[in-house]
Formats: sequence, C-alpha cells, structure tokens
Amino acid sequence: MKRCFVICVLLLLPVLLYAPQRQAVSAGGTAEITGDLKYVALTFDDGPRADTTALLLNGLRARGANATFFLIGEQIPGNEALVRRMAAQGHQVGNHTYSHVILEKAADNAIVEEIQKTQVLLEEILGPGDYWLRPPYGMVDRKRIDLIRTPMIFWSLDPEDWKVLDSGQVVERVLSQIQPGDIILLHDFYPTSVEAALQIIDALQPQGYAFVTVEALFQIYGTTPLLGELYCTATTIRTW
Ligand SMILES: [Zn+2]
Repeated sequence: MKRCFVICVLLLLPVLLYAPQRQAVSAGGTAEITGDLKYVALTFDDGPRADTTALLLNGLRARGANATFFLIGEQIPGNEALVRRMAAQGHQVGNHTYSHVILEKAADNAIVEEIQKTQVLLEEILGPGDYWLRPPYGMVDRKRIDLIRTPMIFWSLDPEDWKVLDSGQVVERVLSQIQPGDIILLHDFYPTSVEAALQIIDALQPQGYAFVTVEALFQIYGTTPLLGELYCTATTIRTW
C-alpha cells in the first residue's frame, strides 16, 4: 500500500506541479491560467440590488475581473436582467436561500424549500444548473446536511463590510490579510462594499492577483466539491 502511494505520488507529481498553472478556466470566462498569477475569489451575498449590483457589474467588466454572486431568491423578481448580466459577463451565480433564513434553526421542510425556490428562479432565468449554496451567516446544521444537495461555500476572509460600512476600512482589512486562494466575503447590497471591491481589485491586480469565480478557483486547485462539506477555500473545509 505504502509503495503504491509513493509511486502514485511520483506519477502525479508533474501534474500536481504544472496542472494548476496550465489549466484553462471555463467557469470564469476564457482566461488562460499562467504560472505567475495568484488566484482569489470575490463573493457577494445578499443581492441582487438594482443600483449597487449594476454598478459593481460595470466595475468588474471594466477591470476584467470575475466574481461569484450568492443571491437571495425574494430579491430576484424585477432584477432578472441583472442576473442574466452576471452570467453573460462570466460570473458565477449561486443560491443564498429564498428569504435569508438561518438554515441551522429552520425546520427540515423549510431548509429544502428555501433552497429549492431560489434554484427554480435561477433555472427559469439561466437554465438548468448546479447553483452552489452559501448558507446565510455560514450556518448549517451538520446533522441535517443531507437535506442540502449542492456544494456549500463558506469563506476564508471576512472584512465585515456590512458592519463597518466604510470602504477604506474594508479595503485595508482585505489588503492586509489577503493570500492566494482566498474566498473573500462581501455584500453587493452596500455602496461602500461595491466601492471597496473595486479598489481591492485595483490594488491587487498590479501585484499579480487574478479574480476568478469560486468554481474556477476549485478547478485551478483541482478540487471537486463534495456534498455535505462547507468549503472555506478550495483546499480547506469548515469544521463544526
Ligand atoms: Zn447573507
């Protein structure tokens, strides 16, 4: 067994060393991966919101950056064009439940319904797909995890943008903590967060950072997300 493991590792070594740098990203657009870039994922919860989300989409397009949006279902009606724009620009669209419930405390049928209702709305607009989930507040009940049938994404960097509502502080917190592979939690519901996100991109792109979707980040790291795990990054999971 041990020898087999060593051989396998040796055989895989060239792949492990070179695959991340050479893999093409399909989920995040058409960008070719190069060895010099440091990949991170900006994620935006609690949208869509007509004014702030539109501004953010404009800013992302101007900078050639991709992001992931975890949408609240009840905010989608009336904002369908924005959701279509997200997908058209190469962003990943995910599920943040229908009414932003705490899944950890919800009844079994509410957990299923809250996720399903948003899934249906997204399928009506974007077609069938696997719309990954960010549980509101990052909270799920480990014992009832089998009720959730889609990958779940937590985060590795939280500047608490919703709390400080100050773009300068949010930028400072992110820039002082950022590491390659990070999944950054922001909320496109707040103008200060949109401002901060664009400043973060402007500061980090010259340092070799590339902004990709969460799905693309997982592809780059060679991770296929498993059901029942809550991912902080493509290589780390949240423990309870
Ligand atoms: Zn939220």
